[in-house]
Amino acid sequence: MRKKIVAGNWKMNMTPSQAVALCDELKDLVKNDEVDVVYCVPAIDIVPVAEAVKGTNVCVGAENMYFEEKGAYTGEISAEMLVDAGVKYVIIGHSERRDYFKEDDELLNKKVKKAFYAGLTPILCCGETLEQREMGVTMDWIRLQIKSDLVGVTADQVKEMVIAYEPIWAIGTGKTATTEQAEEVCKGIRDCIAEMYDAATAEAVRIQYGGSVNAGNAAELFAQPDIDGGLVGGASLKADFGKIVCYK
Ligand code: PEP
Repeated sequence: MRKKIVAGNWKMNMTPSQAVALCDELKDLVKNDEVDVVYCVPAIDIVPVAEAVKGTNVCVGAENMYFEEKGAYTGEISAEMLVDAGVKYVIIGHSERRDYFKEDDELLNKKVKKAFYAGLTPILCCGETLEQREMGVTMDWIRLQIKSDLVGVTADQVKEMVIAYEPIWAIGTGKTATTEQAEEVCKGIRDCIAEMYDAATAEAVRIQYGGSVNAGNAAELFAQPDIDGGLVGGASLKADFGKIVCYK
């Protein structure tokens, strides 16, 4: 039985003081022992958020990291730095990073492996454009992303990780994939993991849906057999996030 996981992706929102205020506002609303709750926050908010959620059920996540340990990589943050600051999860390969910052699968594969090496749990994002969906190549594209990003990653590691299916056309657009579309791709990802590894690994890996998840659609999405929670952008910045976490 996989435990649901609901992660907020705050993106480039919330100054450190706003971040602490949001943690205080959400504190009682996100209490749910049946769900793992994660706030993936901007790098500058990690330390104050880690302090603000201490003693609660919330884990801190990062939105990105670099694969090198240290050195002359101006502006980058290492996995070791994140771990030392109390981070447990890290989003890797969000479509905004793939698109605006030209992060390719070779780089993302290095990041995934480094995250595991350092003791972080990657939340690996994948998803198709509207054009790809309309061309009928959604699953081919996603299988390519998953296979490329997991080169050299072991079955035991995959069992611990999170994969987020995020159709790009549904992110920040208010346009959610239908429950059937979301379940179909999440199941397709699980089938791909079964082919790459084995049935036990596919059964263990947690697969989230992301793309305009809100308090009104979370329950139906999360009730699907292959959807183990959500990666939530816009709705993670307000009290509604509590309703998503407590979706039942
Ligand atoms: C996201 O950024 O991962 C996301 C799913 O955003 P939104 O929920 O706003 O569509």
